[in-house]
Amino acid sequence: MDSPNLSLGYDFWKNAVHEKDWKNALDFLIASLRDVLIFDNLAIYITQESGETSEIAYARAVGREKRAEADANWGESIATQSIQENNVVLTTPSSSEDNGKRVRDAYLIGLPLIASGKTLGAMSLIRFGGPEYTKEHIELASFAAVIASYIFEKRALEESITELETVQRQMRLQDDFVSTISHELRTPLGFIKGYSTTLLRTDTDWDNNTQQEFLTIIDEETDHLSELIENILESARLQSNTLEMNFQPLRPDALIRDIITRASTRYKNLETSFEVKCKRIVLGDSTRLAQVFENLFSNAIKYAPNTKIDISIDKIDASSIQIIFADKGRGIPQQHLPFIFDRFYRVPNQPGKAGTGLGLFICKRIVTAHHGNMWAESEPEKGTRFIIQLPSQ
Ligand code: ADP
Repeated sequence: MDSPNLSLGYDFWKNAVHEKDWKNALDFLIASLRDVLIFDNLAIYITQESGETSEIAYARAVGREKRAEADANWGESIATQSIQENNVVLTTPSSSEDNGKRVRDAYLIGLPLIASGKTLGAMSLIRFGGPEYTKEHIELASFAAVIASYIFEKRALEESITELETVQRQMRLQDDFVSTISHELRTPLGFIKGYSTTLLRTDTDWDNNTQQEFLTIIDEETDHLSELIENILESARLQSNTLEMNFQPLRPDALIRDIITRASTRYKNLETSFEVKCKRIVLGDSTRLAQVFENLFSNAIKYAPNTKIDISIDKIDASSIQIIFADKGRGIPQQHLPFIFDRFYRVPNQPGKAGTGLGLFICKRIVTAHHGNMWAESEPEKGTRFIIQLPSQ
């Protein structure tokens, strides 16, 4: 590139367009500008949504009078002025201040940042000591300001896209949830209605055994229905942080042993192992924590049927423990792993596996309410591990 202006313009634009990270893009821009224009500090202020105040978004000290980056107060008033006037503003030291101390001779430029017809904020430059900025210097700084505006406009657009994607995903999950939940509610209701109508028929006499069988189905389906409704209500309470916890000292190993006993009675072929490497006390809500462990059990039974479930408790350090639930099922595809704790999220295409996508959301919220952490690791065809870390005594 022979022409110096073209080469400079190319440098200015290239990084702004190529760089993914806005701060890196600005770092490159400022470095290129510094090659052709002397300044000591530079700061960028972005106007808030309300339009009343501007906040420092970026600051660099590059010159002889290097200052802490956060100390960008020097540029605020000239930035405000250039935003208000929507124009370049210059200040030069008055001769009365010129007492021989070069450091005091501050030459400032304030440049508005404009994109798509809107003033986004301003860029301020300061130079300690002369000479005065020339027309050409101001043009160069204005050119850099145009590119900085582009970088900030791009950042704002990227943030909007991320926000929209989150909202869109949430809406899609909500839509799926409505259809899943209506199916989930209708199935037990259908059983209850069907069997009670049958029992009430006057044209048939049901023997005691049959009556008992039908009533058992009605009873079980009613429990299923109320559990489902409770889960929905609970997820709403957890979402709004209004679920009450009753914290007491408890032994998680004892809690898990109880659950294993119950699950083994219910599922005759269930194979489990439980390794207790520490017997610490946890301050927790036993009902809620039991709910977490039960959920992990019922998920393993549902999604990794006929595989052994290995559970372990171990210490991490002096004040925390780790509980692992591992199955050897089909696993969770990597692309779905980051979302399985989201409200309503279900891995698609799981024929015959009914669910609402609330279980893991509830588990994680409960663990978080205990100041703990929970995540999953999974390998296709090898199995899934749910890891829970909790503070302990
Ligand atoms: P639900 O079981 O109602 O779908 P969850 O929130 O409990 O909701 O689980 C979310 C998703 O995580 C499930 O749809 C399932 O695909 C996946 N999942 C949970 N546990 C396991 C597991 N042990 N093995 C494989 N996939 C699992």
